[in-house]
Amino acid sequence: MTSPSNILIVGSVAFDDVETPAGRRERSLGGSANYFAMGASHFGPVQLVAVVGEDFPADHIETLKARGVDLEGLEQVAGDTFFWRGRYGADFGDAETLDTQLNVFADFQPKVPEAYKRSPYLFLGNIHPSLQEDVVDQVDSPKLIGCDTMNFWIQGEPEALSKLLKKINLLIINEGEARLLSGEKNLLKSVELIREMGPEIIIIKKGAHGAALFHPEGRFFIPAYPLAELQDPTGAGDSFASGVMGYIARHDNIDLKTFKTALIYGTVMASFACEGFSFDRVAALHLEEIEGRADEIKALISLD
Ligand code: AMP
Repeated sequence: MTSPSNILIVGSVAFDDVETPAGRRERSLGGSANYFAMGASHFGPVQLVAVVGEDFPADHIETLKARGVDLEGLEQVAGDTFFWRGRYGADFGDAETLDTQLNVFADFQPKVPEAYKRSPYLFLGNIHPSLQEDVVDQVDSPKLIGCDTMNFWIQGEPEALSKLLKKINLLIINEGEARLLSGEKNLLKSVELIREMGPEIIIIKKGAHGAALFHPEGRFFIPAYPLAELQDPTGAGDSFASGVMGYIARHDNIDLKTFKTALIYGTVMASFACEGFSFDRVAALHLEEIEGRADEIKALISLD
């Protein structure tokens, strides 16, 4: 195995108010970049581009640093940190968004530090598609540009999103978002339509029903890791992406075989994210736990 390559992440760093059937938490640390960085830090070096307000706790900055996350690209400015409030129903399915306050993200102009510009792997966490594009335009031809988005941007910023999609290689979205983006209910037709918009590799997340990979060399489907007890699914999507991108960067290969195994690691990281509020569980993980769960999934899908 080669040594892991750098992954550059841009996305939201947020305070979340979250209510799930297992409880509620106010002002918990969240945001797509935060979740992604925490998860991907278990696989290799991570560089983060985002903005927080003056209200952001110094001890969390220390926690990210302690996990080896490079924070040269994290700006702290006057104002409030991004805020999101969401609620999950009895099935812990898709979140209902109750409030989104962009706050310091409203005027954010990402500046990618010189040291990040040659990162071979870039992930555009969920945030305004123009900010995602801004970062793509500042980096020096990465090997893979992965991207996430959500209904908030698909409906609210369709033109900016369509411009961005032409510049990325990999889109990771959930089933409902794929339908919304393509206007097509059938999954296969929806994937074909999205491919015409730009990304050649598409991963569709199906929550508790697993995930599907559509790669130019072939397709692959994987179940979710079966969990008896969930606490909070917030960040499961970003954690999934962190496992996929983390594995790809570690192996420095984007062929179908590597992607298939990457889906296993994405599934593992998403399952851990659901077992605690915020990234409590993901931040405290050990590599052996990640590998152990990956082996369990390999056994689950093996025909031997
Ligand atoms: P996930 O559950 O992985 O899809 O992501 C959850 C995280 O996304 C939460 O921590 C939120 O702070 C963040 N989030 C929610 N809405 C948005 C949005 N419109 N833009 C950026 N981040 C968001």
